[in-house]
Amino acid sequence: MTEKRIVVLTGAGISAESGVRTFRDNNGLWEEHAVEDVATPRAWLRDAGVVWRFYQARRRQLLEVEPNGAHVALANLQSKFEHVTLVTQNVDDLHERGGSTEVIHMHGELRTLRCEASGRNEVRMQTQDLADDFLFCTCCELPSRLRPDIVWFGEVPMQMSEIYNAVESCDLFIVVGSSGHVYPAANLVHAANQNGAHTVLVNLEHPINADAFKEIHIGKAGELLPRLVEEWTSNRS
Ligand code: NAD
Repeated sequence: MTEKRIVVLTGAGISAESGVRTFRDNNGLWEEHAVEDVATPRAWLRDAGVVWRFYQARRRQLLEVEPNGAHVALANLQSKFEHVTLVTQNVDDLHERGGSTEVIHMHGELRTLRCEASGRNEVRMQTQDLADDFLFCTCCELPSRLRPDIVWFGEVPMQMSEIYNAVESCDLFIVVGSSGHVYPAANLVHAANQNGAHTVLVNLEHPINADAFKEIHIGKAGELLPRLVEEWTSNRS
């Protein structure tokens, strides 16, 4: 094990080869929906049913998809280096199922649902939890409605101080499968650069913040990452 400190930030692109569609690749539509119709607090207030059914479909999809070589490669990286912080913008659970532990889901998770009254979240992935009807919490005396445990556009991402602490003290910052459009995630590479970290990008195409990276690998994460992780591991001293 080395003392090298690594932070990895993943986006929707890492799950694309598992069959989970990305967001920016589809003209700004997520599974045919405009983001403002399904992924904002306003949409939830206007028509919670539409938002709920959208996320229930995403939650059911988790049962049909499998992690790919890129998820597994990052789990390998975590097993080879002592200090790897894995931050994902993804709401799927493919990192965990690919073998990663301690994943920071800065935009929330599909597996959990959040009580609208108490703010507590609970894992709800039983068959009866995946239908289109609203669900109610187990934490309040009079059960309250649950909302998706997702950070919608306009809400504050989770665990930001932990993320900034890791990024500001890392030696190597790696971004995989992210278009660089969603903030504050897209700014993390600048924080890493300011600290003098080596910054690496693995993406299918050049994202808008490509200039910020010192090393760029263009191609599919599932093909590139296993080889890159092997390289980083063999040069780890
Ligand atoms: P994005 O959809 O904006 O961008 C995805 C990027 O991945 C693109 O630049 C694309 O070229 C690249 N890409 C596509 N296939 C790839 C592959 N096989 N290998 C490497 N790169 C590939 O994603 P984002 O930057 O993460 O922002 C979208 C937001 O939408 C996030 O906040 C996320 O929470 C949400 N989202 C999540 C999921 C998920 O959980 N799997 C899916 C769609 C959207």
